[in-house]
Formats: sequence, C-alpha cells, structure tokens
Amino acid sequence: MPDVSPDISRIRSRLLAWYDAHARSLPWRVGLGAARTEPYRVWLSEVMLQQTTTPHATPYFHAFTQRWPTVSDLAAAPDAEVMAAWAGLGYYARARNLLACARAVAGDHGGVFPDTEAGLLALPGVGAYTAAAVAAIAFDRAANVVDGNVERVMARLFAVETPVPQARPELRRLAGLFVTDHRPGDWAQALMDLGATVCRPRSPLCDQCPVAEDCSGRAGGRPERYPIKTKKADRPQRRGFAWVLFDGQGRVAVETRPDKGLLGGMLGLPTSDWTTGDPSDAPPLAADWREAGTVDHVFTHFGLTLTVRTATGGAPDGRRWMEIEAARAALPTVFAKALDRGMSGILLI
Ligand code: SF4
Repeated sequence: MPDVSPDISRIRSRLLAWYDAHARSLPWRVGLGAARTEPYRVWLSEVMLQQTTTPHATPYFHAFTQRWPTVSDLAAAPDAEVMAAWAGLGYYARARNLLACARAVAGDHGGVFPDTEAGLLALPGVGAYTAAAVAAIAFDRAANVVDGNVERVMARLFAVETPVPQARPELRRLAGLFVTDHRPGDWAQALMDLGATVCRPRSPLCDQCPVAEDCSGRAGGRPERYPIKTKKADRPQRRGFAWVLFDGQGRVAVETRPDKGLLGGMLGLPTSDWTTGDPSDAPPLAADWREAGTVDHVFTHFGLTLTVRTATGGAPDGRRWMEIEAARAALPTVFAKALDRGMSGILLI
C-alpha cells in the first residue's frame, strides 16, 4: 500500500482555495460563495447532466431557460413541446420526470423548490443524487453529492482496491467524510470540477492537482487504474426495421410512441420490434418500399442495427405527416439517423 494517509481538513482547505481560483464558468453558475444559483437552473442542469457531457448539455440548457425561464413556465408547457426540445439529449425518461417534477413544484409548492434534501427527494422524478446536488448547490446544505467524478476522486485519494460497483457504498462513505457546514455548495462543485478537469478518467493531471500530496493513488504510481472496474458483460445486439415514408412534398410520416417503454412519449418513425432474434419485416404501411441501408445506435443496455426501408407516396395510415426539417429536430437521435438514411435512399432512386 502507498505510504500516504489523506488528511481530510487539509484536502478540504486546499481544494476550496483551488476552486476559488479555478472554478469552471458554467451557464448555470452565477457566482461563488454566498452568490447562490437559482434552484430551477441548478435542478435543470443536474437533470440534463446525468449521462450527458457538459458541452452537449449546454445548448439544451440555454434553449430550455430561454423558452421556459421559470419552473412554472416549464410546468405549463405541453408535453410534446418539452419532449421535442429534449430530443437528442437521450435517456428520455428524464424528460418525463422533468415535467412531473416541474408540475409538482408549480402545483404543490407555489413554484418554489423545497430547500432541504428531504423535501427535494419527495418530488416526483428526483433521485438521491439530484436532491443532494440541488440542496448543496442551490441552498448551501451539507449534502453528500456523489457522482461519477466524485467516486473517481475518492477511489484515487484513498486507493480503493474494491472494484465498482461493489465499492460504491465505500466511496460514498469516504466522500461523506469531507462534507461539513462550511461552504457545502462550493465543496460539492469543487470536487466535481476537480474530477472533470484535473482528476480526469484516463489521464489525471496530478502535477496540477491541489491535493496531490494527500493522494494514495498517485503515491502508488498508477492513479489512473482507480476506480477499479469489474469486467462488463458484452452488450447484446438487437435488430429491427425502420420505415421512412415521404409524401413527395417535403414531409415524412411520424408517430408518437406509447408512453411506456423505451423512448416512451417521444416522436418516432414506424418500426418493427427490436429483437436479438429475427425482427418482422412486414411493412406497417402500404407503399413501394426500397432498402436504404442500415444505421447503428447504442443504447445503455443494448446496441441496435436498424435496416431502413424508404418509399414515397401512399397514405400515412394512422401516422401523421411532418415537415422533414421539423421532424429531424424533434426526433430522438436513433430516428434522426434513420430519417437521414431514408432520405439518402430516396436521392439514390
Ligand atoms: Fe486525482 Fe492525481 Fe489529484 Fe490524485 S493527485 S486526486 S489521482 S489528479
């Protein structure tokens, strides 16, 4: 074992001093210390940032806050508009949870977010991470905010040899050792910033790290090996068909997917089932279908290859026509890819 024993209070004071000088400038941050950010913006950013990078989430954050400047504005928005604005961010259950939470805040709390971790946790669609993050960042509550960045920093500081996910409770406990009533919001953000910019997943910049002296992982010579991972099972591969029907006047046939299930409530294109076996290739609409190639997409739990068939003319039969550009903007990424593939198939005819 490396001969380093992390000093909690020294790490705290060094990291907070580093944060005062190096905090990232992010659209949802107004300032440091007492200049707290608005709960709506903190909450929205935290929901968007789950499973999404900051550069990818930033334009969506701007678009949402311009269109719906307050949580009450968002609560009043039609479902379809919010789902369309979310298209491209992925993990669409988050968009449905977002609306459920906004409506609870607007309807049950007069448009004001609860200011405690427990109060936030009671809101629909708000999990332990989001409740802790909003409590700490927006209300300066002493909450233990543990995301992937924080787990990585803890695993390295303490050279935790247990692999994740089994190590998660231990990493959470270690992160909790640092949480105090002194600047808890800044502490949470300082730790996240350190993980995002210095203690990076593949190549940590230990030479620039304010807590390097206290880091067991660095002392051991190979900090990048933490957190130790168990080998992942291979992701299953599913296959299916997508049917891209154009009307010859710049429109494409779209449908709203059922509320339950993958991409529930989102705009979609007609498709077959998605299966690891043989999907049905029976067209859901009558038309002169032609093969336009395949598109690949990776979901969290499986990969998908869609064979795209395309046609022009015919009736949408229970679906509706939509302008191609509007559809591309509103469709989840997997369908936007299929739409583009379908268009290239038409151009080749
Ligand atoms: Fe991460 Fe290196 Fe800092 Fe340790 S010294 S916390 S590994 S950046």
